[in-house]
Amino acid sequence: MIKSSLLENSYFSNKNDGVDLSNIIRSVYSEKAALLNVAKMNQTHSNEVLEVSTEGKYNSDGILTSEKKLILAVKTADCMPVLVTDHKSIAAIHIGWRGLFSNIFQEALNKLSGVNTKVSIGPHAKSCCYEVKKDVANIFPDYIETKNNKLYLNLSKSIKDYCEEKKIEIEISEICTVCSDEYFSYRESKSKERQISFIWI
Ligand SMILES: [Zn+2]
Repeated sequence: MIKSSLLENSYFSNKNDGVDLSNIIRSVYSEKAALLNVAKMNQTHSNEVLEVSTEGKYNSDGILTSEKKLILAVKTADCMPVLVTDHKSIAAIHIGWRGLFSNIFQEALNKLSGVNTKVSIGPHAKSCCYEVKKDVANIFPDYIETKNNKLYLNLSKSIKDYCEEKKIEIEISEICTVCSDEYFSYRESKSKERQISFIWI
């Protein structure tokens, strides 16, 4: 498990933490509640961001809340798990190249206050391994790296650039889920298992 060094109560699981969401959360969640209140998502690479106030499974790729003790969870293998806080709310977002293209990150930020925003991006497929075809590369000309005539997308770079421009604090994990053995990776092994990233107030 990785604990964010920038955001409070923000964690990113890995293979060693297993696949059981409750077990993963309980391993670091300090409240001794019998039931965990967790808001999860049916993620479809959309740019839908929903404001939520109760536990449940939401049809979106981003959720945000200002409810205390409501845990927001996002599942990923190679896409980016993105956790965000401002001075009173939190958000959890799932972002792959489709989400990047449809600006889900900005959709989420627009629903936050803009005050004291901090962003943490967990382990994901980095540009060492995230090969894309020409059609995808053409969408992101500024974020493509070429090696041996193959095209690789740096998924987090546009978010990093955006945050730097807006003076938003951001941390980005150096870990690549494809080439690290510690992480589930769809690209590496067609894994059906996912990492869980989560945050609460
Ligand atoms: Zn890699």
